[in-house]
Amino acid sequence: MSATDPTALTAAAAVAAIEAGELSAAEVFDAYRAAAAADELNAYVWVARDAPAPAAGAPLAGVPLAVKDLFCTEGVPSQAGSKILEGYRPPYTATVVAGLAAAGAPLLGKTNQDEFAMGSSNENSAYGPVLNPWSRDRVPGGSSGGSAAAVAAGSAPWALGTDTGGSIRQPAALCGIVGLKPTYGTVSRYGMIAFASSLDQAGPLTRDVTDAALLLKHMVGRDERDSTSIGFPGAIELPTATRLDGIRLGVPEELTAAAEGIEPGVLASFEATLKIAEELGASIETCHLPHAPHALSAYYVLAPAEASSNLARYDGVRYGPRSASNGAGLVEMYTRTRSEHFGPEVKRRIMLGTYSLSSGYYDAYYGRAQRVRTKIADDFRAAFERFDFVVTPTAPTVAFELGALTSDPLAMYLNDYCTVPMSLAGIPAISIPSGLSDGLPVGFQLAGPAFSENRILDAAFALERAIAFDATPGRA
Ligand code: GLN
Repeated sequence: MSATDPTALTAAAAVAAIEAGELSAAEVFDAYRAAAAADELNAYVWVARDAPAPAAGAPLAGVPLAVKDLFCTEGVPSQAGSKILEGYRPPYTATVVAGLAAAGAPLLGKTNQDEFAMGSSNENSAYGPVLNPWSRDRVPGGSSGGSAAAVAAGSAPWALGTDTGGSIRQPAALCGIVGLKPTYGTVSRYGMIAFASSLDQAGPLTRDVTDAALLLKHMVGRDERDSTSIGFPGAIELPTATRLDGIRLGVPEELTAAAEGIEPGVLASFEATLKIAEELGASIETCHLPHAPHALSAYYVLAPAEASSNLARYDGVRYGPRSASNGAGLVEMYTRTRSEHFGPEVKRRIMLGTYSLSSGYYDAYYGRAQRVRTKIADDFRAAFERFDFVVTPTAPTVAFELGALTSDPLAMYLNDYCTVPMSLAGIPAISIPSGLSDGLPVGFQLAGPAFSENRILDAAFALERAIAFDATPGRA
């Protein structure tokens, strides 16, 4: 064993250490494998036994990757946090996971998540809740809670998550790490078990902004197996900016001062970050996203509508377990399989979605929500004529206690108040840790126009340096 503890390094530093011959890829994998196997947060649902040696010259050098359960991985359990996919081992691998493995980031393990990515606390997983490494009586956020907790706890160098309405950014915020939701269409969705296809995007969860850029660099690209994939114009670059001179930040009143329910400690950290941005040369002004307050309502029509259709395929015939019909026929078998294996939140969404898509209601709900979605995208377009980025707190609160919101779905949905608008508009947004409130991490969100990932990463990098957030308490 070499003197360096591989799990203490960022992923980029581990790549550099392997390339310099200070560590071997096998040493790095073994250290993480041991850490993942010893995980006490329920962050993993499956841990790899070994990893193929990276190809010579592979840019990620063998630094392994934790992957949210819903990415299909050949021969490996891929259950999307659901009982209805228990034991399902797909015959193929998601494009993004295969691409990263080819780039030298082999699979370390599959991470726990809310069932079908529906949730903000990871308490909707059929495989039990994940604990927040900063405080084990609190949630890590969701739905990519296992990925966020693993990275924050140091049992993974980096991880893949997916974000439909906030599921990368919000758990990143609650766990004190970096999470980036890319522009819709830049990363292939092929092999991602679908929740709401017009919103789902894969993205990195990492210890710092450089790692997010490095991982994303090897994720983007057009994929002919995903008809909504467009790829990324140019390449993702590693960030270098140290200043924000000339950068105009817009602070949407609707998602900050005029929003109810943002904790004072979260607002204080947000304000402190704005001051730092100003010291780095940015200008800061209030702006308006007039339709943003309707984003959650539109999202909770559109996402369940798409989910009700995507989840129709789980019928006990093609995947996972099947309930006995006891001689009562095929429909009874479908009904029992779905009643017995979907969790309560998934059932709620299927019912909501089926209702809003039913004839007679379609225009009143789905059609109207689509029009709101367009208005929200227009609001951002107008804002980006005057501003480089729109900034908000990522989540209205710090990590809450396990069980605190489970009986109140509407309160749970409010976690995504500041993240859902960007998802509906399809634009990229990053969450970086901005400090602590009551000893728990707070996230700062920076969103830009479609394909502005390189500029977002640069600005986030400059801020990260100046904020100098110490993530080590999370490893305690
Ligand atoms: N919390 C939101 C929901 O439950 C967002 C989830 C996500 O982004 N996957 O739908």
